Amino acid sequence: MSDCLFCKINNGEIPAEILYQDDEVSVFRDVSPQAPVHFLVIPKKHISTLNDLQPDDAMVIGKMMLTAKMVASDQGVSESGYRTVMNCNSDGGQTVYHIHLHVLAGRQLEWPPG
Ligand code: 5GP
Ligand code: ZN
Repeated sequence: MSDCLFCKINNGEIPAEILYQDDEVSVFRDVSPQAPVHFLVIPKKHISTLNDLQPDDAMVIGKMMLTAKMVASDQGVSESGYRTVMNCNSDGGQTVYHIHLHVLAGRQLEWPPG
């Protein structure tokens, strides 16, 4: 999608600190980190929100979780722990309309979130 920020990160038009990339997903550090480790896992395919997910997208969603686990391990936070979050629409706090899995780690996170 031509005017999507995360599609532009996917195709290199906008720079990001890429931690991992393959044919299906990209992983990069959040520009405004909310924890010492905060990265985003996004699909290469443009999907605006969780509401737009289709049964055919099951593999890519699974791939996003497996990639989160792998990069968390690379970042050395597997044992201390981390949180995965996907925000949907306004009440969920979504601001970029290309789905992304937040991975936060490196400090004690509160529950429930504010
Ligand atoms: P949301 O609020 O949609 O769940 O999360 C969007 C996230 O994208 C925010 O945490 C925000 O800091 C991050 N973000 C927004 N613009 C950019 C950008 O240009 N580069 C990177 N690396 N992260 C971004
Ligand atoms: Zn997009």
